[in-house]
Amino acid sequence: MVVAVSLIPIPFRIVALVQERNNLFEYPKERLAAIIQEVGFRCTSCAKCCTRAFNGHVFLLDRDVTEVKKIDPSALEPAPGPEFCDQDGTFYVSGYALRAKDDPVGSCWFLEGGRCRVYDRRFSICRIYPYMLHREPDENGNVDWRQISGLDKHGEYNQNIPKEECVSLARETREYENAFLAQEISFLEFMHDYFEQHRLRHVQKVYDTRMRRFKKGGPITVMVYYDGQLEEHQCIKYRNFAGR
Ligand code: SF4
Repeated sequence: MVVAVSLIPIPFRIVALVQERNNLFEYPKERLAAIIQEVGFRCTSCAKCCTRAFNGHVFLLDRDVTEVKKIDPSALEPAPGPEFCDQDGTFYVSGYALRAKDDPVGSCWFLEGGRCRVYDRRFSICRIYPYMLHREPDENGNVDWRQISGLDKHGEYNQNIPKEECVSLARETREYENAFLAQEISFLEFMHDYFEQHRLRHVQKVYDTRMRRFKKGGPITVMVYYDGQLEEHQCIKYRNFAGR
């Protein structure tokens, strides 16, 4: 039986993430650099990866959210799949995502004529994509390391990438994954204390009921974790915002 992540006690989830972080540090970055070199991926500016149709959502680290707030705060929306919903029907999510435009493919808010209009200031995940370094299950449920996203679905391959560039990409990718895990751990620690202090608890039934209503157009309140605190948002249905 698969247990919904939200139902696993927070301390267990924190321990699992800390273990994941240890795994990350044990993974030799030379191995990732070698994979990057072997794959030889080059972006062809097809802009597919900047759409929800291809990539779901773009999750932002806190440092990226700070940047987006300076550039255009309306480009932010609560990340989809809130982790918790309390007994009063308020949702909680670990961070922000980039807003998508309401076009057929859900283009990133910053995608203009097939080009990123903030390219020089693009965000952490945009800098390392399509590289990643985390463990996740494949379609058969086998958990293993994943290093490249969307392999053979975009860009060109077998290109000659200089070794220094591969090493630098491997370092940046590991740094991103570490920052991501640190943000998730910090969110869970915060939520553990917040729920205790306010006598709140996650109620899956309320989560499911509210989410069903939301998908039909009803408003919900989402508290987004950013910079060590929660920011409140009133949300109505938008593209691809979904429960887990
Ligand atoms: S910020 Fe730029 S690079 Fe990142 S997803 Fe949006 S358009 Fe693409």
